[in-house]
Amino acid sequence: MLATRGYAAKGPASPLEPYDFGRREPGPRDILVDIMYCGVCHSDIHQVRSEWGASIYPMVPGHEIIGNVTEAGDKVKKFKVGSTVGIGVFVDSCRECGPCRAEEEEYCEKGVTLTYNCYERDGKTPTYGGYSTRITVDEAYAHQIPKGIPLERAAPLLCAGITTYSPLRHFGVKARDQIAVVGLGGLGHMAVKFAKAMGMKVTVVSHSPSKRDDALRLGAEDFIATSDQSVFKKNVMRFDFILDTVSAGHDLNAYLNLLRLDGTMVMVGLPEPMLLTASALVDKRRRLAGSSNGGTRETQEMLDFCAKHNIASDVEVIPIQRIEEAYDRTVRSDVRYRFVIDIASLNQR
Ligand code: NAP
Ligand code: ZN
Repeated sequence: MLATRGYAAKGPASPLEPYDFGRREPGPRDILVDIMYCGVCHSDIHQVRSEWGASIYPMVPGHEIIGNVTEAGDKVKKFKVGSTVGIGVFVDSCRECGPCRAEEEEYCEKGVTLTYNCYERDGKTPTYGGYSTRITVDEAYAHQIPKGIPLERAAPLLCAGITTYSPLRHFGVKARDQIAVVGLGGLGHMAVKFAKAMGMKVTVVSHSPSKRDDALRLGAEDFIATSDQSVFKKNVMRFDFILDTVSAGHDLNAYLNLLRLDGTMVMVGLPEPMLLTASALVDKRRRLAGSSNGGTRETQEMLDFCAKHNIASDVEVIPIQRIEEAYDRTVRSDVRYRFVIDIASLNQR
C-alpha cells in the first residue's frame, strides 16, 4: 500500500482531522495521481454529517480533484507521467449495463462506485476522496484537463461543473429560453456561466439579497431575492426551465409556480425531503425532474466547453487546516463561490 496523508471525519459530529491511510499500488490500467487541489462540495458536508443516511467512517471526503500523474500502469493509454488530470464523483462502475456502455456511468444499474463514502467493486474496501495527498484510479474514470484553465479554478468543474452542465444539455433547454437558477452557490454560479455561454436568458433566484451584483457579473440578466415573498406572485409563469441547486429544504410548490405551461424544473440540489403539491404540476402541465452529475463522456465534453468559452469556477483557495470554517461558511451560504483546498497544506502539520 502507498502511504497517503489525508483529513477524515471519524463520525457525524466529529471535526475533520489528520488521517493517514494506504492507497493501492497502481495496476496495469491505473494511474497514481499527486493531488494539487480539491474543491469543497456541499455534498461533502451532507455526507460528513450523515445527512443522507448511514455514512462510512472514517470518511476522507472530496470529489473535485485535480492532480498530476506520477505513475501509469503499462496498459494506460490516455495519460502519461506528468499529465494533469481531474477526478470527479465516481471512480468505478459495473462497465456492462446500458448506462455504463453509454458512458453515463453515474446511472450504473448496479450502483456506481463513489469516490468516497462507498466501497470498491469488491464490496469491502472503502473509497477515500480528495482531501488527501494522492489517489490511485483506473484511467477510464479520470479526465484530461485542457490547457488554459487555472488548475485551482478547474477543480470544481469535476462536480459543480458537470452537475449543472449535464441537465442544461439533457433537458433540451434552448438558446434564448428564459431560465431560472435557484441558489447561487458552487453549483448555481457554474449554472449561470454555462447557461449564459449557451445563449439562455438567465435569472438568479436567491435567498441572499446581497448576491445581486455577483449574479449580474456572472452573466445573469435579472435577479430575484426571495426575502420578499411577493416575488413569487410577481414572477408566476415566467420561466421555461428552472434549475434548483438549493442545499436546504424550501417550498418546491412556490418555485414550480414560476414555470410556464409545459415548463420543466430540474432538481440537482439534495436537501432533506420536501412537500410537493400535485396541483403545482397539474395546473400548467409542468414537469419536475432530477439529474445526477454526468458520465465520463459528458464530463470531458464539459471540460472542453470550459476551455473553449473561458469558463472556470470562482474560488477561494484555503489550506486544509481551515476546512471547518469553510464548511460553516458554506452552510451559511457565505461562499463566493467555491472553497478549494490547496493540498500542499497537508504536508504542513
Ligand atoms: P452551496 O455552494 O452551499 O450552494 C447552495 C445554495 O443554496 C446556497 O448558496 C444558497 O444560495 C442556497 N441555499 C442554502 N440554504 C438555503 C435555504 N435555507 N433556503 C434557500 N436557499 C438556500 O452548495 P453546492 O455545493 O452548490 O450544492 C448544492 C446542492 O446540490 C447540495 O444539496 C449538494 O449536495 C447537491 N449536489 C448534487 C449533485 C448531483 O449529483 N445532483 C452534485 C453536487 C451537489 P442563495 O444564497 O443564492 O440563496
Ligand atoms: Zn459534489
